[in-house]
Amino acid sequence: MRVQDILKSKGNAVCTIIPEATIADAVGVLHQFGIGAVVVSHDGVGIQGILSERDIVRAFHDQGVSDLLVSDIMTKDVVTCSPRDRVDYMMSLMTEKRFRHVPVVDSEKLAGIISIGDVVATRVAELEREAEALEQFIQYGR
Ligand code: AMP
Repeated sequence: MRVQDILKSKGNAVCTIIPEATIADAVGVLHQFGIGAVVVSHDGVGIQGILSERDIVRAFHDQGVSDLLVSDIMTKDVVTCSPRDRVDYMMSLMTEKRFRHVPVVDSEKLAGIISIGDVVATRVAELEREAEALEQFIQYGR
């Protein structure tokens, strides 16, 4: 299974926000769409950063968030993946780096986003199929 197989079912839409938006705007977007992170982008194509609920919690704890902008607290060095990357590789990458969201970039354009939830759901479905095949083999095998 590859990242492009996940995108086939969930689509290519990515929720973005401009770097000049306020943290209150970002909280509104996360709440409205029921998501945990938003890609920071001027045009919905290039990536300037990523802002997750963890960044907002940290900023709130460290400095209070009232007059901060998205660009003040976003992660600027964003790890992205390709639609051709394998899902099991994404699982180990997300575990190793300890983040739950990875934007997908194709031909230098934002082409989707995958979350740890997408990756785990795909892996569980794969394991279920493997277990079923094994059961069939044991019952009717050879
Ligand atoms: P998350 O677990 O995805 O909610 O994010 C945890 C931390 O990692 C936050 O500081 C995010 O800004 C950062 N982060 C999330 N996704 C990425 C990514 N793809 N590349 C770099 N940093 C990220």
